[in-house]
Amino acid sequence: MEPKQKLIQIVVSTGLLIAAYLINRALPSLEMWQRLLIYLVPYIAAGFDVLREAGEGISHGEVFDESFLMTVATAGALLIGFVPGGEAMFPEAVFVMLFFQVGELFEGIAEGNSRRAVSQLLDIRPDTANLECGGEVKTVNPEEVKVGDILVVKPGEKVPMDGIVVEGSSSLDTVALTGESLPRDVRTGDVILSGCVNQNGLLRMKVEKEFGESTAAKILKLVENAGSRKSRSEKFISKFARVYTPIVVLAAAVVAFLPPLISGDFVGNFATWLLRALTFLIVSCPCALVVSVPLAFFGGIGAASKIGVLIKGSGYMDALSRADTVVFDKTGTLTKGVFEVTTLHPECIEAKELLHLAAHVERYSTHPIAVSLRQAFGKENDGCEVENVEEIAGRGIRAAVNGKTVCVGNQKMMEDVGAKWKICNEPGTIIHVAIEGKYAGHIHINDVEKPDAAQAIASLKAVGIRKTVMLTGDREKVAEKVAADLGLDEYRAELFPADKVSEVERLIDEKPDGTSLVFVGDGINDAPVLARADVGIAMGALGSDAAIEAADVVLMDDKPSKIEKAIRISRKTIRIARQNIVLAIVIKIAILLLAAVGLAPMWLAVFGDTGVLLICVLNSTRTLSYKKG
Ligand code: ADP
Ligand code: MG
Repeated sequence: MEPKQKLIQIVVSTGLLIAAYLINRALPSLEMWQRLLIYLVPYIAAGFDVLREAGEGISHGEVFDESFLMTVATAGALLIGFVPGGEAMFPEAVFVMLFFQVGELFEGIAEGNSRRAVSQLLDIRPDTANLECGGEVKTVNPEEVKVGDILVVKPGEKVPMDGIVVEGSSSLDTVALTGESLPRDVRTGDVILSGCVNQNGLLRMKVEKEFGESTAAKILKLVENAGSRKSRSEKFISKFARVYTPIVVLAAAVVAFLPPLISGDFVGNFATWLLRALTFLIVSCPCALVVSVPLAFFGGIGAASKIGVLIKGSGYMDALSRADTVVFDKTGTLTKGVFEVTTLHPECIEAKELLHLAAHVERYSTHPIAVSLRQAFGKENDGCEVENVEEIAGRGIRAAVNGKTVCVGNQKMMEDVGAKWKICNEPGTIIHVAIEGKYAGHIHINDVEKPDAAQAIASLKAVGIRKTVMLTGDREKVAEKVAADLGLDEYRAELFPADKVSEVERLIDEKPDGTSLVFVGDGINDAPVLARADVGIAMGALGSDAAIEAADVVLMDDKPSKIEKAIRISRKTIRIARQNIVLAIVIKIAILLLAAVGLAPMWLAVFGDTGVLLICVLNSTRTLSYKKG
């Protein structure tokens, strides 16, 4: 029910309750059952949805939920007047139901606010697109736009779909996607992503992906689905409710029947104890937890999205908060992955030809090395034929260029094909080339560390990460230098993707129980490791579908410094969820004890229950806010 409808329901039933009360005052000679009938009107108005839910619960065999508890407690209050010695409690029964509904109303409002806040944070859903069609520009729904259509994006507008600029230049604000407000300049030929805001120039773009496949739609879907992967605290709550509620119902039955039986005067004492048992039932509603804990996680996921970190489920938040070891991939993760070709060392062919062959073999690869070699060569389409491309992860690539088999990769790749490679002592990454199994020379390429990498490692240490490790397929020399520059605790070099998995497994065994291992990669050929780690973080995911799919946590930009922030947000969220669990349980147990000995009247029980719910819900909404810095 929408909060507005709930409010109307509460107001109407309050009116009916007052009317019923006045009628009863005016007609003191009414029989008990006649008065019951009069109070049934406001009772049903106030609680029809609760009664219906309780009925549905029973028909599905899920007896012990909060609706059931409220129904039993209020029905008991309506009927207690018919028990010998019992005092009629008709208005109280209606009042309890009403108050429960007020609690539900608050809960609905708080949840709505959180959802709205999160969707505002993620203000990336485009509402319209300006479609060019027959010389005219029409405003249409982005879902109607097809791949290949031309769109116009005016200054100040959101880029509605993913595509390529065909005319114009501008700078784009990517803050909604990455949390960073550094504008990105784009010109004709550049790829632009949905969710960015066009700041100054007019752009014409060709659409490359349907709306459902666009970056904005994917991110929104991820955030919306995040709630379905439950955290341990959430699982604990549902398990807890399943065990706890039947115990409470049983305890209530014991409170109602046992003391009067023992006292010897069952009829004389039953009404008093029945009332206590009913009060007991009301307090026992676990709704404060059932509602507030998932709400806390929802807010935490929203706060992380705000800084460009997508956490795919609250379970990963749990694991992040317990991080002990953080393992990094090197290329593209700690280094920029943008290699510069420094020197060419050809053997028996021309230097130009060496680069030419390498660039062609790498034509279809997405590996950062491939991208760099292609860029260094420049003109890609010179009519050469490239066939039978085979990428060997952690080694290199083999392909037939104009009919000749060319291998491009590291030393291991050369050993595989029996080419006699030369040792080279220059620093940096070395890419060897072999033609038809014969060594043709090597290419020196150099990568640079990301500007925030060293600070990212330092800040992880500062939040208590015990160990930082770098795994790479690159040479020992390169790895040693990067590890020393950045202050990593450990590094392993010359690894294949499968070795990276076994290294991660070893590190998982070494870490203390109850903590978790985080692996950070760029999603290119490290999907198996991302999957094996307790939490797999892919970075630079803006525009890379593979990374978005493989990882548990996605960093939209490629800043390793976001990891420490994600850990801090997770810890805060878990702390708030725990506070709620402890607070709710302590207050409830206190009221339960008071109720059992008759010191808590029924209204106090309801008040306590709703109060705890409210405090917990408000506490949960704190997870939404995260101070940058
Ligand atoms: P990292 O662990 O640093 O991310 P990879 O596992 O992706 O590195 O690659 C390890 C090594 O394998 C690289 O340093 C390079 O020598 C070689 N290699 C991998 N892919 C390619 C490629 N497409 N072209 C040339 N060499 C490659
Ligand atoms: Mg890599």
